[in-house]
Amino acid sequence: MAVSATLAINQLTAERLAAGRPVLPLGFGEAGLPVHPDLVAALRVAAASGSSGGYGPVTGLPALREAAAGYWRRRCLPTTAGQVIAGPGSKPLLYAVLRASVGGVALPRPSWVTYAAQAQLLGREVHHVPTLDGQGGVPDPDLLDAAAASASAAGRPIGLVVLTLPDNPTGTLAGSGTIRSVADVARRHDLLIVSDEIYRDLVHDPVREFLSPAELAPERTVVTTGLSKNLALGGWRIGVARMPEGPLGDRLGAEVAAVASEVWSSPANPVQQAAAWAFEEPEQLTERIAASRSLHARVAGAVADRFAAAGASVHPPTAAFYLYPDFSAYADLLAERWSVRTGTELANLLLDSFDVATLPGAAFGDPDERLSLRIATSMLYGEGEQREKALTAAD
Ligand code: PLP
Repeated sequence: MAVSATLAINQLTAERLAAGRPVLPLGFGEAGLPVHPDLVAALRVAAASGSSGGYGPVTGLPALREAAAGYWRRRCLPTTAGQVIAGPGSKPLLYAVLRASVGGVALPRPSWVTYAAQAQLLGREVHHVPTLDGQGGVPDPDLLDAAAASASAAGRPIGLVVLTLPDNPTGTLAGSGTIRSVADVARRHDLLIVSDEIYRDLVHDPVREFLSPAELAPERTVVTTGLSKNLALGGWRIGVARMPEGPLGDRLGAEVAAVASEVWSSPANPVQQAAAWAFEEPEQLTERIAASRSLHARVAGAVADRFAAAGASVHPPTAAFYLYPDFSAYADLLAERWSVRTGTELANLLLDSFDVATLPGAAFGDPDERLSLRIATSMLYGEGEQREKALTAAD
C-alpha cells in the first residue's frame, strides 16, 4: 500500500520548503489556525498532575464520553455517554467501525482518500457511486439503490455506505432531500450508514440546513467527529464516534471497543481531559470556531472567485476550506502546451514547474481524465502572528 495521498503531499511539500523552494501549500487539509490558549492551558493542567493518567478505559474517559454525548444532544441527537467511543482521532475510529461491519463498502465519488484505502486494508470491495452535482459527500440515491441491488444480485451485497457531511474534497454540503432519500435506500437494503461529520461546525453557508442521517435512521447510523478541524487540533489526535441506538449499536460498540483494546488501548489521557472541556463548548471556543468559520468562508470564497473568473468550473464553497475546481475548459491548451491529459499530470506539472502543491481528483476516486484538483485554502493564512491577525480581520 502507498502512503495516503494527503500525507504524502504534505511530506513532499515540507521537503521542498526545507530545500528552499517557495511551495504554495494547497495540497494538505490542515485547519491552518493556532490552538486557542485556553485549550493549551487545559492540556497543561491535565499533564501537570504528575501522573500520565494511566492508560484509562478503552472507550475513553467517562467525562469525555459524557461531554461528547452533550455535544450531540445540543444538535438534536439524543445520545447517552454509553453510545460514545473516544479514539486517537476519528480516522482510527472509522477503521474500527469498518472492521466491525460486513459486506461491500459504498463510497461517494469523489470521496476522502482514506475510506477506500481503509476498505482496501480490510480486503473489502469498494463501490464508488457518483454524487449529484453540487452535493458532494453523498452518493446519488438512485445510483446507490441500483448499485446495492446489483451487488446483492451478484451475491456480494453492499453492507455499508459512507457519507461525508459536509464534504471533503468538494467543500459542499448535501441537501436534506438527498440525505432523506439515501436513508430510505439504506433501510431498503439494510445498509449501515457511517456519517463522517468532522466538518459539521464549519458550515459557513447561512441558508444550508444541516441534517444528520442519524436523525432519520438512528438504528443504523454511526456518526464520527473530532476536534481536528473546528479547533485546529489535528496534532492532538482525538476523535469520537456515536454508535447507533439499539442492538446494532451495542454489537458495533463492543466490536469497536475490542479493536481499540488491541490497537490503541486508549487515547492520550491528558488530551482526553482537555477534549472533554472542549466538547462542553465553552463560549470562548464557540467564538473561536465562529471566527475560523468566517475566515475559511472568506478565503475559500475569494479563491473560488479567482478560479471561476479564470474559466475553471467550481462550486462555491459551503463549508470548511476545500475547493474542487475542474479544469476541463483548459483541456486542449494543457494537452498541446504541456502534454497534460490527466488530473495527476496537472498536479505534477503545478508542483514541479510552478511550486504549487495540490491533489488530483484521482486521489479521491474520480477518473483521472477529469482534470479536477482538490485545493485546500487553509494553508494560506500564514504563520504565527499573521494567522492570529487573519482570525480577527474583517477582510
Ligand atoms: N474525515 C475527513 C473527511 C477528513 O478530511 C479528515 C482529515 O483530513 C478526517 C476525517 C480525520 O480526522 P481526525 O484527525 O479526527 O482523524
